Amino acid sequence: RKADFESLCKKPNETFDGKAFSLQANIEFAEELSIANKYQAEGVGLLRTESIYLSRKHFKNVDQQVAFYKSILELTTPHQVTIRLFDVGGDKFFGDEEKEQNPFLGWRGIRMLLEQPELLKNQLRAILETSADFMGRIRILVPMVSTIDEIYKLKNIIGEVQKELLNQGFDIDKNIPLGLMVEVPSVALKADLFASHADFLSVGTNDLTQYVLAVDRGNERISNLYDQRHPAIWRLIKEVAEAGERNEVPVSVCGELASDPIAASCLIGLGIDTLSMNAVVLPSVKQVLRSNSYIDMQQLAEKVLDAGTLDDIDNIFSNWETKE
Ligand code: PEP
Ligand code: MG
Repeated sequence: RKADFESLCKKPNETFDGKAFSLQANIEFAEELSIANKYQAEGVGLLRTESIYLSRKHFKNVDQQVAFYKSILELTTPHQVTIRLFDVGGDKFFGDEEKEQNPFLGWRGIRMLLEQPELLKNQLRAILETSADFMGRIRILVPMVSTIDEIYKLKNIIGEVQKELLNQGFDIDKNIPLGLMVEVPSVALKADLFASHADFLSVGTNDLTQYVLAVDRGNERISNLYDQRHPAIWRLIKEVAEAGERNEVPVSVCGELASDPIAASCLIGLGIDTLSMNAVVLPSVKQVLRSNSYIDMQQLAEKVLDAGTLDDIDNIFSNWETKE
């Protein structure tokens, strides 16, 4: 079985009928790259950086952040690494912030960063400094975007940091792609507009689901209502995929939905060809994507889009599993 895994991972990322896709890893620590590399992940689709923030005593200065990013980039050659700006707040607090009534609807992600310019600028400096040694390999991803105004403000700050570093003689990558997390319904519903302000979009189904269904992702009491395969979620993802295509902006999915092999097949069927997931599930997803044809995945996607309820989705998924 082990040998099977290894030979499977060396095979090309393409469906049974030859449509190419890309599988990347979601990681938080450099240690996770050994498994990502073993399973031939094509880079890091989501580098969560909250742990740097949470252990900020150890990351007081830009140099320490640079060392962290470098360690990730060195271990992922020649692939891209998508560094997500600190997504703190919501469930990811470290204690001394003011308690909020509804933290998931509160001061988190880009909302917090724009009000803590020193924190944001230090992270941007660290990312841009790192880019000098890894031209063309870094992408920046913005968490919890909900308005266009946030993107304007962030782009201004990125411009300032770039200028500072260039003045200091750093040879930075001036074309780092800037991507937006699609995890707030307003972004998915106005996907064309947001796509026109971004270099890529990454759908975060973990949060998108909680915001679309009004179900706190961490609340056990209502966890029966939290299901990323909800028909409403498929509708929104389809809108985003189409907007990406219209605007020639690549769309990927980095939420948990992508790590379910049948859901991953639906995503490919919707035209999303890049999926990022916890590295441990890469072989199981790849195996299913390689053994089915794109045409069948498109039909599967049609079905989930037409589904009314989660029971319908369950039926569609189990029929797909037992076909032939
Ligand atoms: C998401 O919301 O789907 C996501 C990938 O981000 P996180 O789980 O870190 O909130
Ligand atoms: Mg999220």
